[in-house]
Amino acid sequence: MIETLIIQFMTDPYDETLHFSQSWQQQLAEAFNKIEDLCDYLELSPDDLPISIAAIESFPLRVPLSFAASMEKGNPHDPLLRQVLPVKEEMGIYPGFSVDPVGDIQAAAQTGVLHKYQGRVLFINTGSCAINCRYCFRRNFPYSDLQLTKQKETAAIQYIQEDSSIAEVILSGGDPLLLNDARLTHLIQQLSAIKHLKRIRIHSRLPVVLPARITGELINTLVSSLVQIVVVIHCNHANEINERVMDACRSLKSNGIIVFNQSVLLKGVNDNVAVLCELSEKLFTQGIIPYYLHLLDKASGTGHFDVTETEALMLIKQVKDTLPGYLVPKLVKEQAGAASKQYIL
Ligand SMILES: *Cc1c(COP(=O)(O)O)cnc(C)c1O
Ligand code: SF4
Repeated sequence: MIETLIIQFMTDPYDETLHFSQSWQQQLAEAFNKIEDLCDYLELSPDDLPISIAAIESFPLRVPLSFAASMEKGNPHDPLLRQVLPVKEEMGIYPGFSVDPVGDIQAAAQTGVLHKYQGRVLFINTGSCAINCRYCFRRNFPYSDLQLTKQKETAAIQYIQEDSSIAEVILSGGDPLLLNDARLTHLIQQLSAIKHLKRIRIHSRLPVVLPARITGELINTLVSSLVQIVVVIHCNHANEINERVMDACRSLKSNGIIVFNQSVLLKGVNDNVAVLCELSEKLFTQGIIPYYLHLLDKASGTGHFDVTETEALMLIKQVKDTLPGYLVPKLVKEQAGAASKQYIL
């Protein structure tokens, strides 16, 4: 009897202290990938949620425990849960939503680089992510299409070397921090040796959803870069910023790395003045500057997150009337063929 109890205790998948003491790779391997397990952990019954098996089949469930641990138990409308819950609405048809709304993902996937804006290139390093956000455009692309092969990587670096107008390389994905330390170190060494490069920017959701990724070794890699490193984290709601996230951000900041945040404006998650203000305030307590608030890219399967431009403008104006200017993110949208993000306010 006691033995079974001990065994049960030792193999409890939700032993958070044990889980968070493991390596980031192990934590990633143990991320929730079954809806029943996530519901069980959150003390919710799958029958009470509008879950769609078809949605899971088209874009799997993936949620690290560190992120799930910030959700409110028993709350089917939790704003963090909403970001990852595969629901029936994803299978609905929404006018104006398409597989590749900005129209360049497929092209970028073939070369690994996307050079649309003056002086900056997007460098797509991996197609995978630690979390599957239901509002993501990436849901419509097979992982392997976006994966960077050695061949693509060599060609991409050569492209950057040969164009002296490129001042900044933006590592993107997927999530570039899913590359292991050896590959990341090698990549940053190669890039920072390019004379005309001024900055390397890393867009990653890992500091928020898998903060264990911010290891001492990663910090060493970033600090050893010959060019300035900027990290843009992706956080949509103040509740995402738990103690582990704060530790990760503190360790980036205390090592001189500039950290910005970008969010996506999502219906039922952060389409509310108080929620947006709280997010900016909480980010800033960690020394993180709000950068962009993006309108949703209209990708198939994400229509239920849509906030109209008129509503968005109303919201951001109210945020502007409430907070100091430096805490107001720029409201932007991505437009096919445009030379920059389109500022709405
Ligand atoms: C968003 C984006 C960038 C970065 O834009 P900033 O305004 O510098 O943050 C660069 N290239 C592409 C293709 C992008 O979509
Ligand atoms: S690319 Fe960003 S938004 Fe999309 S699934 Fe990955 S972490 Fe989420």
